[in-house]
Amino acid sequence: MLGTSAAIPNPDRHDSGILITVQGRHYLFDCGHGATNQLVAANVNPATVGHVFLSHLHYDHIADFPYFMITTWMSDRQTPPVVVGPVGTQDFVDALLSRETGAYRKDIEARVQYPQRQANIQALEPDVREMEPGVIFGDDLVKVSACYVEHIPREISPCFGLRLDTVDGKSVVFSGDTAPCDRLIELAQGADLLIHECTFPQSAIDFRSKAGIGTWAHTSPTDLGKIAVESKVKSLVATHFGNFDSTRPVVQEIMSKHMPVELMGPELMEEMVADIRKNWSGELRMAHDLMRIDF
Ligand SMILES: [Zn+2]
Ligand SMILES: [Zn+2]
Repeated sequence: MLGTSAAIPNPDRHDSGILITVQGRHYLFDCGHGATNQLVAANVNPATVGHVFLSHLHYDHIADFPYFMITTWMSDRQTPPVVVGPVGTQDFVDALLSRETGAYRKDIEARVQYPQRQANIQALEPDVREMEPGVIFGDDLVKVSACYVEHIPREISPCFGLRLDTVDGKSVVFSGDTAPCDRLIELAQGADLLIHECTFPQSAIDFRSKAGIGTWAHTSPTDLGKIAVESKVKSLVATHFGNFDSTRPVVQEIMSKHMPVELMGPELMEEMVADIRKNWSGELRMAHDLMRIDF
């Protein structure tokens, strides 16, 4: 778990990023702010990550992508990564990295003056594939499947849940951001590991609905417990926390638009666990940055 937070700057929790490593091959799910640094913290050279899957195009899931691309070009990456994301991913990549019109074109133009950077300029041209529900990727080690989830209105931008199955029969499912979603439960059936968003504890959800704060759809802890039961997964990891557990004054100040500061603190994580436990008695982990799970 490279990043376990949602859309608020917090040095203790980076934005969404999950690295799945199968027989030494790395698959990155989401590339939120801090993902590249967190790969290094996890002793993984970012230039060795050849596959990136973007669950949706919210900034807390993609903001580190240009840094990841340029820094791995600088680190002598030879083969560009495969990048799989929703419709709009090609535009996103081009708007950043196009040598004619991209936001980073001056940086790229400057660096490419060096023969060494000219020699691997192809590393900046990722193999972008825009996904539809179904099997979205396969190689000799894994198969990755996707389903629509309920988060951003689909006509604005589709959001996906993702499932990775390995050749030796192991499986990991990542919800992306979503409200409770039957398609995701179907995708997750019997998985070894379900990594599911749980953005706010119930007390914050209650505050937000009373205060009329609009939000994109997310999953409550009580619903998450039900989802894990219905998915018949072997193990559950809750993640994408809305920084409600932070004791940092500035994080609390920023979060005070979402919930009262008096409510915030690490004890809310206990409330969340208790609410998930109303329905789910199986293995449960509350994700933290650099949490590693081997199976
Ligand atoms: Zn998010
Ligand atoms: Zn989102």
